[in-house]
Amino acid sequence: MTASPDPRRSLPVITGSRDRTRDPRPGIAGLDAPAVSTWLQERGEPLYRARQIADHVWRRSAGSFDEMRTLPRQLRDALEADFRADTLADTAVTLADRGLTEKALHTLDDGRNIESVLMRYPGRDGARDRSTVCISSQAGCAVGCPFCATGELGFERDLTAAEIVDQVRFWARRLSDEGGHVTNVVFMGMGEPLLNVGPVLSAAAALSDPSRFGLGTRHITISTSGVLPGMERLVALRPQYTLAVSLHAARPALRDVLVPLNRRYPASDVVEVATAYARTTGRRVSYEYVMIDGINDTPDDATELVRLLRGRLAHVNLIPMNAVAHTPWQPTPPARLAAFTETLRASGIPTTVRRNRGVDIGAACGQLAAEQAARPAPAAVARRRERLERESAAALTAS
Ligand code: SF4
Repeated sequence: MTASPDPRRSLPVITGSRDRTRDPRPGIAGLDAPAVSTWLQERGEPLYRARQIADHVWRRSAGSFDEMRTLPRQLRDALEADFRADTLADTAVTLADRGLTEKALHTLDDGRNIESVLMRYPGRDGARDRSTVCISSQAGCAVGCPFCATGELGFERDLTAAEIVDQVRFWARRLSDEGGHVTNVVFMGMGEPLLNVGPVLSAAAALSDPSRFGLGTRHITISTSGVLPGMERLVALRPQYTLAVSLHAARPALRDVLVPLNRRYPASDVVEVATAYARTTGRRVSYEYVMIDGINDTPDDATELVRLLRGRLAHVNLIPMNAVAHTPWQPTPPARLAAFTETLRASGIPTTVRRNRGVDIGAACGQLAAEQAARPAPAAVARRRERLERESAAALTAS
C-alpha cells in the first residue's frame, strides 16, 4: 500500500494530433476569491467589484464577459484581455430518454473533445427533482479499462480546474433557462479524477464553496479506479465528498484485465484505504461494478465480492455494461444480474442496479469523443478483441 510514482508513466499514452496553440488566458472560474481581489487591486479597482464578478461567474454562470452588465465596459475589456469567461470553446448537445438525459460534447481551445452528461430525475412522492451532472476530469484516460470508450482513446491531457468547473456552469446556465439548477455533480466522465487530483480538488472546492457555486459537499461524488496516493490524500483531507470506487472485479487476475491499474494498486489495498475514508468521514463508499456477460458476473465473482466488502461501510452499484465497439463483451442478461444482486443483498451488502442513461446517444463515458477521434484500423481492432478474449479467459481459469 505504498505510494508509487505517477502511474501514467507505465500506461499507454496517445498524444493527440489535434494540438493547436493554446489560449494562454486562464479560465475565470479557476480563480478563487483572493486571486480575483488581487487582480482588481493591481488595477486600482474597488473591491466590491469582486462580489459582482463572483455573482456573474457563479450565481448566473455567465458564459461571456459581455453579459456582465453591472461591470463598466473598461473593466469587462480588462477581464477579457486577461481571462476566458468560458474555457469550453464549443459545445454540441444530444438528447435521449425523452429529454431526461442530455449529453454534451465540448471542444476545448486546443481542439480536444471532452464530454459531460445531464441526467434529470423527476421527484416522486413529494421529493424534489434532481439534476445530476456527470463531468470529465481529463481528455482521454491512461487507465485503459477495456470496456470503456475513453480507455480506447488513451490519455490526451489533464483538464484545468476551470475546464472542469465550466462543464457544470454550462449545465447550470442551461437549467436556469427553465428555472432549474444543478443538484448533484459526479466526477465519473472521461478520465481518472485522482490522476489529476490537484485540479479536481480545486474544482470540487469551487463547486462546494458557499461563496462560489455553493453545492453541498455531500452532493459531490469523486470516483476513482483505485489511485492509492490520491485516495490517501482524500483520507488526510477528510472532505465530505462521496467516494466512488470503480471495482468491476474482486478476483485479482480478472481485475488486472478489467482495470489495468490493479497491477499497481491491488483491489485489497484500494478497499482498505476506501474503508479508512469511510471511517474518517462517516460517509459510505460506493463501489461501482460494471456487469459483463460471462466475465465478472459468475456466482464465484459474487462470492468473492462479498468476501471483499462484507462488514464495511459500503454500497454496491451494479451497472449493466454498455456494449463498446472493439471489445468482445456484452452486458449481463437480466436473470443473472438479479441473481448477483440477490447474493450481495443476502450477505447484508446494500446493492442497487443503475439504469444506464442515454445508451442511444452513446452515453457510455467517452463514447461521443471516441467517435470524433480517428477510428482504429480493422486489423488493430481484431488484434485487440483477440487479446481481450485470451486475457479474460485466462483470468477466469486463474482463480
Ligand atoms: S472506466 Fe474510467 S478509469 Fe477506466 S478507462 Fe474509462 S475513464 Fe479511465
